[in-house]
Amino acid sequence: MTSSIALRIATVRQQLPASVKLIAVTKQVSVAAMREAYAAGVRDFGESRIQEAAVKQAQLQNICDITWHFIGRLQSNKAKKALEQFQWIHSLDSLELAQRLERLASKVNLRPQVCLQVKILSDPNKSGWTVPELFADLGELSLCQNLQIQGLMVIPPLGLNESETFDVFQQARELAAKIQQMSLPHIQMQQLSMGMSDDYQLAVRAGATMVRLGRTLFGERPV
Ligand SMILES: *Cc1c(COP(=O)(O)O)cnc(C)c1O
Repeated sequence: MTSSIALRIATVRQQLPASVKLIAVTKQVSVAAMREAYAAGVRDFGESRIQEAAVKQAQLQNICDITWHFIGRLQSNKAKKALEQFQWIHSLDSLELAQRLERLASKVNLRPQVCLQVKILSDPNKSGWTVPELFADLGELSLCQNLQIQGLMVIPPLGLNESETFDVFQQARELAAKIQQMSLPHIQMQQLSMGMSDDYQLAVRAGATMVRLGRTLFGERPV
């Protein structure tokens, strides 16, 4: 029997180019549903809370080919846990946090893959660098040799229409290309983590390489 989660995953996959990584966002999603997603071929899971993720990771520890992506706001006192529990951190949002992760990573000999969270448009509800702030910090970021900076993570502000949303994603792609051209040490810009349930098709059209999908795969979250 094919589960509804498996069907939804298959449907979404048909819409995604093979090169786009599907990250199943499983905040507030049960371990049983995560197992269904795994059975349907998902290997990348995104969580936004360290503690919630730890509980699920313990229950899924017999599965060794899951890649864990941290996508939530990372408090500095949880940086060490994030490093130990996740291979990817999409939501790196300040130089201070980057430097903290860098110190911790060198101590424990880990080299996390990270995305820099950027606000293309100002957004009081989101953390991350504005574009000018990011350019100001790139030099220091490129000294973080234990971080594998792979690209940008972008969440458009709420309330934009389709063309405005698409424009944000395109600007993100152009920004990544511009930074890539600077050829800074330890900074790669091949990854664009952008696109959620309501806007992933636009994100993919604009060049997303990783989409982070929750509700489209698992249904609405309880409020
Ligand atoms: C919750 C969340 C998602 C998934 O959102 P959906 O609308 O459920 O697809 C993606 N990215 C981040 C950062 C999130 O917090």
